[in-house]
Amino acid sequence: MPLRFSNTLTHQVEEFAPARENTVRMYTCGPTVYSFAHIGNFRSFTFYDILRRWLRLSGGFKLDHVMNITDVDDKIIRNAVAEKKSLADYTAEYEKAFLEDCDTLRLERPEKLVRATEHIPEMAAAIQKLADKTYTYENEGSIYYRISKFPEYGKLSHSDFSGMRSGARVDVDEYEKADARDFVLWKAPKEGEPFWNTGLGPGRPGWHIECSVMAIQYLGETLDIHAGGIDLIFPHHENEIAQAEALTGKPFSRFWLHSEFLLVEGQKMSKSLGNFFTLRDILAQGYQPEAVRYLLASVPYRKALNFTFDGLKSAATSIERLRNYKLRLETAKFPEREADAVLARTKKALDEFNASLDDDLNTAQALAAVFEYVRETNTQMDAGEFPAVAVAPALALLERFDSVFDVLKPTAKEGALTDAQVEEKIAERIRAKKAKDFAGSDRIRQELLDQGIVLEDTKDGVRWKRK
Ligand SMILES: [Zn+2]
Repeated sequence: MPLRFSNTLTHQVEEFAPARENTVRMYTCGPTVYSFAHIGNFRSFTFYDILRRWLRLSGGFKLDHVMNITDVDDKIIRNAVAEKKSLADYTAEYEKAFLEDCDTLRLERPEKLVRATEHIPEMAAAIQKLADKTYTYENEGSIYYRISKFPEYGKLSHSDFSGMRSGARVDVDEYEKADARDFVLWKAPKEGEPFWNTGLGPGRPGWHIECSVMAIQYLGETLDIHAGGIDLIFPHHENEIAQAEALTGKPFSRFWLHSEFLLVEGQKMSKSLGNFFTLRDILAQGYQPEAVRYLLASVPYRKALNFTFDGLKSAATSIERLRNYKLRLETAKFPEREADAVLARTKKALDEFNASLDDDLNTAQALAAVFEYVRETNTQMDAGEFPAVAVAPALALLERFDSVFDVLKPTAKEGALTDAQVEEKIAERIRAKKAKDFAGSDRIRQELLDQGIVLEDTKDGVRWKRK
């Protein structure tokens, strides 16, 4: 079965291939840099990462992926004014923190990260073009999109807004009520607010226009994939479509992919419930970033994810099991024996892994394929039945797994010993043992343990791993 995704626009699962030249032109909605991103945000960003990796691995596609950084909006302006900082100074700190958090979670960078404030003239030009086509009207210096001019409004959220086009306007960038309002394209500045001078008069762009304009500028009039969190379907993505398609007369994106909500301990995250966590909050409690990544990736993106601390612990256990298995493959001695059945079993696990991810990124099923294989072959190893010739294919399966999930290599702790330094210590300990210096040997073992390095003496020699 070929690679396929569930397309929000059509409500169908559809085969995916890029429209042109084997390159996927993809736009994903990025962070609004007004505070630290929370784990709900990182669910979407982890989904983008898995999507990127699988597009490359499954289809052999090249990627041209653009993500925006929203560095001007209501909340940013409010906070920057309150802290008496320029927008640039205020947002720089949170943009930096966001990118650090992405690195911590091993999220690949899109090919282009684009800041809204660096594209104001292009946005003003697009709004002027919409005005020329009579999609806009002005009120008190602000410019609004007239949604009654765009009869297809509602096609992404599959809502019928036909009875609600009363010319009601909304000034804020985000609004939750499921009624259609003429939304703001260009906002006149209020007293004390920062603004740009353009041909449209003083002001700043609304949130929605930035994505349409930057997506078209960098990726062309029709994208292959536009992705985001499910909360962006309405109004944000509906508005992006209205703007982009009014500008170009072409479909804005062929595929629309949306990741579901994240709950924390079964509840919606909120500051008042005390279940609101940034990535930094969680890591400060001693959890490994790989466990967070694993948990966020393990539930298929179209299912709600319940983030619990028990779940995080079992994610860590799952990773540990795979690391131990890999270490066993790399260090144990296996018999030379008939291998056809094991090789066929390995091929089956690999096929299941690939087929699961091709099926709309079913990560849970892909993981199940790997774990079932690990369980069976561990049992064979215990019984001395796992053949030496099956080691390389088993490691290749793990490598395939890790090129998507990327959790096997432990994150080095600050000041941690390098692999070479650990090997050197182990060699020193072997020399001490040979010289019957058992106190010295024990001391080295303890020193390594203090650094989180666990030694295991096996009949095949010393194995080590990081805790
Ligand atoms: Zn967007």
